[in-house]
Amino acid sequence: MRPFLGRNLSWPHAILGKGVRLPESASGWLVAAGCEPAYVTRPKGRGYRRSDWTLPRGRGYRGMAAGYGVAAAFGPRSWHFMLHLTTRPSMATEPNQIRHRIQRAAYEKCIPIQVVFEVTVRCNLRCHHCYNFDRAEPRPLARSREELTPEEVLSIIDQLAEAGTLYLAFSGGEALMHPNLLDFVGQARRRYMLVRLKSNGIRLTPAAARELVEAGVHSADITLYGATEETYHAFTRVPGALEQTLRGIDAAKEAGMKVRLSFGLMRTNIHELEAMMELARSRGLNYTMDPHVTARYDGTRDSMELRLDGPSLRRLYESTLRQMLRGPSNRLDLPPQCSCARSVCGITAFGEVYPCIGAPVPSGNLRDKSFAEIWKDSPVLNRIRSLKLDDFPVCKPCPDRAFCRRSSGAVYSNTGDYTGPEAWTCMEAGILHELHDAGVRGDAAPDENTVQRFSVEPE
Ligand code: SF4
Ligand code: SF4
Repeated sequence: MRPFLGRNLSWPHAILGKGVRLPESASGWLVAAGCEPAYVTRPKGRGYRRSDWTLPRGRGYRGMAAGYGVAAAFGPRSWHFMLHLTTRPSMATEPNQIRHRIQRAAYEKCIPIQVVFEVTVRCNLRCHHCYNFDRAEPRPLARSREELTPEEVLSIIDQLAEAGTLYLAFSGGEALMHPNLLDFVGQARRRYMLVRLKSNGIRLTPAAARELVEAGVHSADITLYGATEETYHAFTRVPGALEQTLRGIDAAKEAGMKVRLSFGLMRTNIHELEAMMELARSRGLNYTMDPHVTARYDGTRDSMELRLDGPSLRRLYESTLRQMLRGPSNRLDLPPQCSCARSVCGITAFGEVYPCIGAPVPSGNLRDKSFAEIWKDSPVLNRIRSLKLDDFPVCKPCPDRAFCRRSSGAVYSNTGDYTGPEAWTCMEAGILHELHDAGVRGDAAPDENTVQRFSVEPE
């Protein structure tokens, strides 16, 4: 296994692997268009060589070929454009095959293809469930003085590019509270990453949204905590937050961002779920729903009281969430593990590296070591990568494992044990198992990319 690749290696084309050789002119186009040399081909000291570009056989070739046209037309920012064109059904008839090959190879080769970077813990809301820290307390805000400087953030973005990151999400806190966010977005785009914003939407004025799109933001995940001002105010402790959020959502969409809404399902808003779905549908937006709430990273745990109880969760799976019930997993030979520390990574505003932003296991600090050193040598990350089914002694024989939506990161947050069980997760798995045995089925095909959360297309 090669745990890390340097910048002179073009891992995406290595993944695409054996296939159709491109005509020489195509490679020339790319270079002429100024595409990232590291992603084109750069055998040291030998200039560009067409044989380094290979493509998968089959109809996906047409999408890639279209990508070359885009590369020629739009210049240096087009590598990701090409990558995404090839994964769009309209451009390639084998999109999943290509995307899964890239994801699988990143997983196997331990390339941090997908990173969430919390650029600040500051926020303009004070949500009850916030996992950063208890926002009813002012204390941790003093720590914002210790956050990474803009120069440090820019340097880390460069280091991520060298490590092979393709998808970079800026998060927080509220990422838009950071005065240098546009610089960070621009830097990530210059390093050919696809930039996503995770935001509460409040600061997305039409002008701010346009600036972000011009700087290179491709898409935004915007959280929605209810469908009425009353619920929103009680939950976020900020009056008028819903109206501002909806304005932000509309501004982001209008500016050209691909917007997806995220619903955290909790006791406080579950009665408004239908209305939240309608807010998404009426705007033609996709949304995700997630009933999991974790303890906070400051060790406080009262946020978990917001989680749905068993009867509410069961009713939800029998009704609104029924369409998303999945059949049992047939891969019980695998450990109940996700992409933590393999193709996924998280970085905090203080430079801490986590195996995933949802798994706050300290693995090294970027003020002490480079990202490459931490990613390659951290005992924590290497231990997570080496976990086997036998390392999950309670989960391995569990009768509900085929239905379990276990996230090791969430389990670690809630219990301090990365490989153990967790009571609420076990309750949910039991409910899903019982419903399946009772013949309750979903009517939608399972999406293998959504493990913890459900993703819904607008009707
Ligand atoms: S918007 Fe996000 S970061 Fe801000 S308080 Fe709410 S949960 Fe925390
Ligand atoms: S239901 Fe509980 S014990 Fe079973 S696999 Fe899931 S977390 Fe582990």
